Amino acid sequence: MGPMTDGRRSLLRVGRACLLLVIAGAACAPITPTPTSTHLPSPAVSASQTPAHTPDQTAPGIVVQDPPPGGVVGMSGITVTFTEPVRGVDGAAFQLSDAGGSVQGSTVSLDPTRRIATLVPEATLSFAATYTVTLTSLVDDLAGNALPRTSWTVRTSDLVTFAPGTYTGYRFGDSTADLTAIKRSTLSSPSTATASEYRVMDDVGYLLVNAGIWRGYWIHGSPGGIAQDDPTAPIPPLPTCKYVDLPAVRVAYADWATTVLDTVFQLPSGYAPGDLVDTSQAGLNGSYYVRAIALADLTAMVAAANSNGARLAVQSAYRSYTGQVLTFDGWVRQVGYDEALQTSARPGHSEHQLGTAIDFRAVGGASPWTYADWATTKEGAWLAANAWRFGWVMSYPRGTSSVSCYSYEPWHYRYVGRAAAAAVHGAEVALRQWLWSQGYGVR
Ligand SMILES: [Zn+2]
Repeated sequence: MGPMTDGRRSLLRVGRACLLLVIAGAACAPITPTPTSTHLPSPAVSASQTPAHTPDQTAPGIVVQDPPPGGVVGMSGITVTFTEPVRGVDGAAFQLSDAGGSVQGSTVSLDPTRRIATLVPEATLSFAATYTVTLTSLVDDLAGNALPRTSWTVRTSDLVTFAPGTYTGYRFGDSTADLTAIKRSTLSSPSTATASEYRVMDDVGYLLVNAGIWRGYWIHGSPGGIAQDDPTAPIPPLPTCKYVDLPAVRVAYADWATTVLDTVFQLPSGYAPGDLVDTSQAGLNGSYYVRAIALADLTAMVAAANSNGARLAVQSAYRSYTGQVLTFDGWVRQVGYDEALQTSARPGHSEHQLGTAIDFRAVGGASPWTYADWATTKEGAWLAANAWRFGWVMSYPRGTSSVSCYSYEPWHYRYVGRAAAAAVHGAEVALRQWLWSQGYGVR
């Protein structure tokens, strides 16, 4: 983790440098002029009045509070402008306390010429919190008239700024142990967001960000800002196959080969590739659709299978989000919800929505799942041995359901391109494991 470098970090972590800014800022602030009689005729004074010797009996007041009641404490700390010259402005008289009443250590100073008192907290204030500013009667004017005790509340900001860099988003589960890194993004320009909550878990602060590209994500935070991630940080462990709905990270149409979809991560409902072509163009039965980027290798694979006596046909290919709703609901009606979870993806969680997945069967053959093990048929066996050479990977091999998140499906293949397919084949792991190991699940 590296500290955030934009100015907002120091906004609340104010120190000596900020004090200078406070004074510089105050110099620019409008100051209520004190009426003088220099250019006015002197009022008539009766014999009974002796203005020069009348004691000042007017208590000092406050003309400017910055921030005002309810306002946000900013770079310039907290300043107060008095109606007349005052004395006694110090840390005992001018205080900042948190919601629990604890006084926060602060540096307090007075500019007697401008009659401006400045309070700068010495430590980091809490994020999105309310504080009370108090000026006590220890402050008085030069004649000894005490300032009426005054207090008001201010708050700290809920705005956070992401400096350019790499950040990781998290989701909280039922406990801290379920804190899972699920999204890593790199920003090339600053981005501002609001945060609705700040939590400390295991001594690490997290901000719930509800705007911008990080909508709904918990981000490593500090009251003054957001911690960046080290882009070389280790990839978090593969998430367990929970039935939850988290947005997949790689959902650009160009990321088709690397999108991690499982029981955890899902595509947006509007994800629908625009380059779908009919599977008949690959020498297969038609009225099913795959993305054009898979067509050449699919065509080559079908031709190679045919020449080896394996006559492939399509059982299912592209499925829209709406199609998945119908498919899943159909399985639920047939086998019940719990069983359907094992055999069919909930809407958005299916690789079929990518347009790069095909369920195969044999020409004239029954649905592949009606076989005890379709991989023992001529077509199934040929695909299991050779599909990777053409860029296709069996997504859910036998014995991998705990990491692939789905039951063994010897008929379901996903196109990832020849290089990636060869790597997955060589690694001898499930596609989901391989994609995650490459960091595609988080960035
Ligand atoms: Zn399938």
